[in-house]
Amino acid sequence: MKFTVAIDGPAAAGKGTISRAVAERFGFAHLDTGALYRAVGVKGGDPVEAANTLAPADLARDDLRSLEAGQAASKVAVIPEVRAALLEFQRKFAAQEGGAVLDGRDIGTVICPEAEVKLFVTASAEVRAHRRWLEVGGDEAKVLAEVRERDERDMNRADAPLKPAPDAVLIDTSEMSIDEAVARACAEITARLPA
Ligand code: C5P
Repeated sequence: MKFTVAIDGPAAAGKGTISRAVAERFGFAHLDTGALYRAVGVKGGDPVEAANTLAPADLARDDLRSLEAGQAASKVAVIPEVRAALLEFQRKFAAQEGGAVLDGRDIGTVICPEAEVKLFVTASAEVRAHRRWLEVGGDEAKVLAEVRERDERDMNRADAPLKPAPDAVLIDTSEMSIDEAVARACAEITARLPA
Protein backbone atom coordinates (compact mmCIF):
# COMPACT_ATOMS: atom_id res chain seq x y z
CA MET A 1 0.00 0.00 0.00
CA LYS A 2 1.22 3.51 -0.83
CA PHE A 3 -0.16 6.14 1.50
CA THR A 4 1.45 9.53 2.07
CA VAL A 5 0.90 11.87 4.99
CA ALA A 6 2.25 15.41 4.38
CA ILE A 7 2.75 17.51 7.50
CA ASP A 8 3.82 21.11 6.96
CA GLY A 9 4.07 24.17 9.15
CA PRO A 10 6.44 26.75 10.65
CA ALA A 11 9.37 26.03 12.98
CA ALA A 12 8.53 24.43 16.34
CA ALA A 13 4.77 24.13 15.71
CA GLY A 14 4.86 20.46 16.72
CA LYS A 15 5.26 18.84 13.27
CA GLY A 16 8.16 16.65 14.32
CA THR A 17 6.48 15.31 17.45
CA ILE A 18 3.20 14.68 15.63
CA SER A 19 4.98 13.06 12.67
CA ARG A 20 6.99 10.65 14.81
CA ALA A 21 3.90 9.70 16.83
CA VAL A 22 1.67 9.03 13.82
CA ALA A 23 4.44 7.12 12.02
CA GLU A 24 4.76 4.84 15.02
CA ARG A 25 1.01 4.47 15.47
CA PHE A 26 0.33 3.50 11.83
CA GLY A 27 3.66 1.77 11.12
CA PHE A 28 4.64 4.32 8.44
CA ALA A 29 8.20 5.38 7.61
CA HIS A 30 9.04 8.94 8.67
CA LEU A 31 11.24 11.56 6.99
CA ASP A 32 12.09 14.83 8.73
CA THR A 33 12.81 16.85 5.58
CA GLY A 34 14.10 19.81 7.63
CA ALA A 35 17.10 17.63 8.51
CA LEU A 36 18.07 17.53 4.83
CA TYR A 37 18.20 21.34 4.63
CA ARG A 38 19.93 21.57 8.02
CA ALA A 39 22.58 19.08 6.83
CA VAL A 40 23.16 21.10 3.66
CA GLY A 41 23.31 24.33 5.69
CA VAL A 42 25.94 23.13 8.16
CA LYS A 43 28.08 21.25 5.63
CA GLY A 44 29.66 24.47 4.34
CA GLY A 45 31.12 25.07 0.90
CA ASP A 46 28.84 25.36 -2.11
CA PRO A 47 25.27 24.53 -0.97
CA VAL A 48 24.24 23.12 -4.36
CA GLU A 49 27.24 20.79 -4.33
CA ALA A 50 26.43 19.87 -0.70
CA ALA A 51 22.82 19.04 -1.63
CA ASN A 52 23.91 16.95 -4.62
CA THR A 53 26.36 14.91 -2.55
CA LEU A 54 24.40 14.60 0.70
CA ALA A 55 25.28 11.34 2.47
CA PRO A 56 23.85 9.48 5.48
CA ALA A 57 26.79 10.66 7.65
CA ASP A 58 25.73 14.29 7.01
CA LEU A 59 22.31 13.49 8.46
CA ALA A 60 23.81 11.84 11.54
CA ARG A 61 25.65 14.97 12.79
CA ASP A 62 24.71 15.87 16.33
CA ASP A 63 24.62 19.63 15.71
CA LEU A 64 21.67 19.57 13.29
CA ARG A 65 19.09 20.70 15.87
CA SER A 66 20.93 23.90 16.91
CA LEU A 67 19.54 27.41 16.25
CA GLU A 68 22.51 28.05 13.96
CA ALA A 69 21.72 24.96 11.87
CA GLY A 70 18.09 26.13 11.59
CA GLN A 71 19.19 29.53 10.32
CA ALA A 72 21.73 28.00 7.94
CA ALA A 73 19.00 25.64 6.65
CA SER A 74 16.54 28.42 5.91
CA LYS A 75 19.25 30.35 4.03
CA VAL A 76 20.18 27.46 1.72
CA ALA A 77 16.48 26.53 1.38
CA VAL A 78 15.83 29.67 -0.74
CA ILE A 79 18.16 28.35 -3.47
CA PRO A 80 16.06 26.61 -6.17
CA GLU A 81 18.95 24.29 -7.18
CA VAL A 82 19.26 23.06 -3.59
CA ARG A 83 15.52 22.32 -3.44
CA ALA A 84 15.67 20.59 -6.84
CA ALA A 85 18.59 18.39 -5.70
CA LEU A 86 16.57 17.14 -2.70
CA LEU A 87 13.25 16.64 -4.49
CA GLU A 88 13.64 13.17 -5.99
CA PHE A 89 14.83 11.60 -2.74
CA GLN A 90 11.79 12.99 -0.91
CA ARG A 91 9.34 11.83 -3.61
CA LYS A 92 10.81 8.31 -3.63
CA PHE A 93 10.57 8.18 0.14
CA ALA A 94 6.92 9.27 -0.03
CA ALA A 95 6.06 6.61 -2.61
CA GLN A 96 7.47 3.62 -0.69
CA GLU A 97 5.27 0.64 0.12
CA GLY A 98 3.82 0.58 3.60
CA GLY A 99 3.07 4.28 3.96
CA ALA A 100 5.18 7.36 4.68
CA VAL A 101 4.98 10.53 6.74
CA LEU A 102 7.04 13.52 5.61
CA ASP A 103 7.24 16.72 7.59
CA GLY A 104 8.53 20.03 6.28
CA ARG A 105 7.38 23.25 4.62
CA ASP A 106 6.39 22.29 1.07
CA ILE A 107 5.39 18.62 1.30
CA GLY A 108 1.68 19.14 0.58
CA THR A 109 2.26 21.92 -1.96
CA VAL A 110 5.32 20.82 -3.99
CA ILE A 111 6.78 17.45 -2.98
CA CYS A 112 3.56 15.42 -2.65
CA PRO A 113 0.58 17.44 -3.89
CA GLU A 114 -1.22 14.08 -4.27
CA ALA A 115 -0.69 13.03 -0.64
CA GLU A 116 -3.69 11.22 0.85
CA VAL A 117 -3.50 13.34 4.01
CA LYS A 118 -2.23 16.92 4.25
CA LEU A 119 -1.94 18.60 7.60
CA PHE A 120 -0.77 22.17 8.27
CA VAL A 121 0.37 22.44 11.87
CA THR A 122 0.73 25.95 13.32
CA ALA A 123 0.95 27.76 16.67
CA SER A 124 1.60 31.38 17.65
CA ALA A 125 5.21 32.58 17.31
CA GLU A 126 5.41 33.07 21.10
CA VAL A 127 4.26 29.52 21.87
CA ARG A 128 6.63 28.08 19.28
CA ALA A 129 9.58 30.12 20.56
CA HIS A 130 8.85 28.99 24.12
CA ARG A 131 8.85 25.34 23.05
CA ARG A 132 12.09 25.74 21.11
CA TRP A 133 13.65 27.56 24.08
CA LEU A 134 12.77 24.61 26.35
CA GLU A 135 14.78 22.45 23.92
CA VAL A 136 17.79 24.66 23.29
CA GLY A 137 17.92 26.99 26.34
CA GLY A 138 19.68 30.38 26.25
CA ASP A 139 17.88 33.71 25.85
CA GLU A 140 14.16 33.24 25.09
CA ALA A 141 13.87 36.65 23.37
CA LYS A 142 16.68 35.62 21.02
CA VAL A 143 14.87 32.35 20.25
CA LEU A 144 11.66 34.30 19.46
CA ALA A 145 13.56 36.64 17.15
CA GLU A 146 15.09 33.61 15.42
CA VAL A 147 11.68 31.95 14.98
CA ARG A 148 10.24 35.17 13.48
CA GLU A 149 13.21 35.64 11.17
CA ARG A 150 12.93 32.07 9.91
CA ASP A 151 9.11 32.36 9.42
CA GLU A 152 9.66 35.52 7.40
CA ARG A 153 12.27 33.89 5.15
CA ASP A 154 10.34 30.63 4.75
CA MET A 155 7.02 32.33 3.91
CA ASN A 156 8.39 34.93 1.53
CA ARG A 157 10.84 32.99 -0.61
CA ALA A 158 9.97 32.69 -4.31
CA ASP A 159 10.49 28.93 -4.61
CA ALA A 160 8.20 26.64 -2.54
CA PRO A 161 7.25 29.16 0.17
CA LEU A 162 5.73 27.91 3.40
CA LYS A 163 1.96 27.92 2.98
CA PRO A 164 -0.89 25.45 3.47
CA ALA A 165 -2.02 23.42 0.46
CA PRO A 166 -5.58 24.48 -0.48
CA ASP A 167 -6.91 21.14 0.78
CA ALA A 168 -4.75 20.90 3.93
CA VAL A 169 -6.39 20.46 7.33
CA LEU A 170 -5.20 23.21 9.71
CA ILE A 171 -4.23 22.19 13.24
CA ASP A 172 -3.37 25.07 15.60
CA THR A 173 -1.47 23.55 18.53
CA SER A 174 -1.11 26.82 20.54
CA GLU A 175 -3.54 25.60 23.18
CA MET A 176 -3.31 21.85 22.64
CA SER A 177 -1.36 19.25 24.56
CA ILE A 178 0.88 16.91 22.56
CA ASP A 179 -1.62 14.10 23.10
CA GLU A 180 -4.50 16.22 21.79
CA ALA A 181 -2.56 17.28 18.71
CA VAL A 182 -1.50 13.68 17.97
CA ALA A 183 -5.08 12.43 18.46
CA ARG A 184 -6.34 15.08 16.03
CA ALA A 185 -3.77 14.08 13.40
CA CYS A 186 -4.51 10.36 13.89
CA ALA A 187 -8.25 10.99 13.40
CA GLU A 188 -7.59 12.74 10.07
CA ILE A 189 -5.43 9.82 8.90
CA THR A 190 -7.85 7.12 10.07
CA ALA A 191 -10.66 8.87 8.19
CA ARG A 192 -8.70 8.62 4.93
CA LEU A 193 -7.10 5.17 5.22
CA PRO A 194 -8.41 2.66 2.68
CA ALA A 195 -10.99 0.34 4.25
O1 C5P B 1 11.78 21.88 10.10
P1 C5P B 1 13.13 22.49 10.41
O2 C5P B 1 13.05 23.59 11.41
O3 C5P B 1 14.15 21.45 10.78
O4 C5P B 1 13.61 23.12 9.03
C1 C5P B 1 14.77 23.92 8.93
C2 C5P B 1 14.63 24.86 7.73
O5 C5P B 1 14.71 24.09 6.53
C3 C5P B 1 13.31 25.61 7.63
O6 C5P B 1 13.32 26.83 8.34
C4 C5P B 1 13.16 25.81 6.13
O7 C5P B 1 13.83 26.97 5.69
C5 C5P B 1 13.86 24.63 5.52
N1 C5P B 1 12.93 23.60 5.04
C6 C5P B 1 12.35 23.78 3.81
N2 C5P B 1 11.53 22.83 3.28
C7 C5P B 1 11.27 21.71 3.98
C8 C5P B 1 11.81 21.52 5.27
C9 C5P B 1 12.64 22.50 5.79
O8 C5P B 1 12.57 24.80 3.16
N3 C5P B 1 10.49 20.78 3.41
